[in-house]
Amino acid sequence: MTSQKKINIKLYNSLTRKKEIFKPIDENNVRLYVCGPTVYDYAHIGNARPAIVFDVLFRLLRYIYGKEHVTYVRNITDVDDKIIIRAKNEYPNLALNEAIKKLTEKTTKQYHRDVKALMCLNPTFEPRATEHIAGMIKMIKNLLEKKHAYLAGDEILFDVSSIKNYGRLSNRKLDEQQAGARIKVDEHKKNAEDFVLWKLSGDDEPGWDSEWGYGRPGWHLECSVMSAALLGNIFDIHGGGIDLIFPHHENEIAQSCSANNNEKMANYWLHNGFLQVEGQKMSKSLGNFITINELLESEKFGGQKWAGDVLRLAMLMTNYKEPIDFSVKRLKEAKTILTKWKDRIIELGLDFTEQNREEIEALEPCSKLLFALADDMNMSGVISHLHRHAGGKKLHNAKRLFGSLQLLGLVNFESMQKWQKKKNKQKDNLDIGLIESKINERLQAIKEKNWSKADRIRDELALINILLKDSKDEKTGERITKWELKNE
Ligand code: AMP
Ligand code: ZN
Repeated sequence: MTSQKKINIKLYNSLTRKKEIFKPIDENNVRLYVCGPTVYDYAHIGNARPAIVFDVLFRLLRYIYGKEHVTYVRNITDVDDKIIIRAKNEYPNLALNEAIKKLTEKTTKQYHRDVKALMCLNPTFEPRATEHIAGMIKMIKNLLEKKHAYLAGDEILFDVSSIKNYGRLSNRKLDEQQAGARIKVDEHKKNAEDFVLWKLSGDDEPGWDSEWGYGRPGWHLECSVMSAALLGNIFDIHGGGIDLIFPHHENEIAQSCSANNNEKMANYWLHNGFLQVEGQKMSKSLGNFITINELLESEKFGGQKWAGDVLRLAMLMTNYKEPIDFSVKRLKEAKTILTKWKDRIIELGLDFTEQNREEIEALEPCSKLLFALADDMNMSGVISHLHRHAGGKKLHNAKRLFGSLQLLGLVNFESMQKWQKKKNKQKDNLDIGLIESKINERLQAIKEKNWSKADRIRDELALINILLKDSKDEKTGERITKWELKNE
């Protein structure tokens, strides 16, 4: 081990329903898998949540175990019935395979642009399901041989009653599920919860030849195979949104453990809470369905475009396990806070010139903040430490603030360099002589107790984003007025 830092990470493990100290299988290769998008549509802001939350975890793991010692896999599901349906609708005049190619390429590209704008690092690997079909066929054969799967009509299904502890992640018992199942068990299924490993495709549908005929894999199988191929049969952390616990993750566990004769697939299962919009579940019919791209590029939400870093902070202001109500108010709040933090970094004297780059990029986060972050990503603790440094008065505070925000992926050298240039430009455009003479005029008015004039001058300056701050000279007791430029 090279750059390991001595700090314990604690994570809430959905599998044991406890917060546990994280112990990687191999400190030289800490392995994380997160279910990525199904590329049939532009990603919505709900999809942004796991991307951001697990990016923060990835950054924390890299910080603690060293950049070279963490492997993060986030897949792309590029074969799925939703893709087929959407491709037919969107490109009715194209052959289905071409329509699918066009749709998946377009949405994948957009997803990459979105997560980049949200300041997420690239995962170490980003496998596409269609690149792993051979592995999927192999796993199905394995499951059929062990009698965990059976052929039924046009499908190969996993037999959930063939294993002891189906339901342990989602805490369901099989009997209960069947007795309580409102949906009648399909005729061809042995159990209501049996799920598709392989299904036959029509001639024009996407498919691959197999001994069971031309067909395509089930969604759950894809993640079992891709994670094993890139991370091994048992790895450290598996993540995704809370909606995936059942059936997706339950089924991944069932397949992987059965195929590989293991008790476990991953040691820690992490799930982010759900996101709703302005108090309601996001849905197209309610008209509150909003894509990441729309937030970044259009003025549909709250009448303005929102920057990626603001969106990222808006998401991180709530602990990852809790639900989020995404709202204009939340975005505005995030914008105000982030603006203040970035301003403070500059005001307190960090200078983002090239010659300082190396030194600045090596700045460390605040150690208390790090403890809060390592404590199951306790963002409320993290944010209070950020506020504390932003309230400080020393260069040291600017350094800690930058180091901490950098660890969280909320700023980097380039973003701050731009910010500093923007601020300098705004300052250059100001008539400083005029501002100072107005301030003097106001001080005079105060002396003369002409309060209405003093207030008027303050308001005039506020209109051009100049904020006044009054204080008293410690020795003379005289009023001093300082000004600063507020970002809009
Ligand atoms: P999908 O493309 O629907 O499979 O979702 C990709 C990822 O986004 C999964 O980890 C989902 O759990 C997550 N996700 C989808 N909708 C939401 C939401 N409204 N809030 C939080 N996470 C979500
Ligand atoms: Zn998955």
